[in-house]
Amino acid sequence: MDNCIFCRIIRRESPARVLKEDDEVLAFRDTNPQAPTHVLVIPKAHIASVDAARPEHQALLGQLVLMAQSIAREEKIVSGYRLVLNNGRGAGQTVHHIHLHLLGGRGFGWPPG
Ligand code: 5GP
Ligand code: ZN
Repeated sequence: MDNCIFCRIIRRESPARVLKEDDEVLAFRDTNPQAPTHVLVIPKAHIASVDAARPEHQALLGQLVLMAQSIAREEKIVSGYRLVLNNGRGAGQTVHHIHLHLLGGRGFGWPPG
């Protein structure tokens, strides 16, 4: 996707503070952090949203969670972190390339806002 900011980060056409990657997944720090640790974990394949995901993406979606788990351990936030997938404008999705937010390093309320 030529104009997708996250695809541009994957292609290294836009800068990002990359923490970890493998053949299918990339993790980098959010530019507008909402917690001391705020990392975005994305598939290298362009999938617009949770709603756009298909059965063939099942394993890939699991890989996002496991990469977040690995980063949470490295960031030493395992005592309390939150994983968020915003789907659609009503939930605040602003970038239409699926991304798992990893937030940690502070307390979190429930229900979320
Ligand atoms: P959403 O609101 O779609 O769930 O989350 C999009 C996130 O992407 C936001 O937290 C926003 O700060 C982050 N973001 C948007 N553009 C960029 C960018 O170019 N680089 C990085 N690292 N994060 C971005
Ligand atoms: Zn994309």
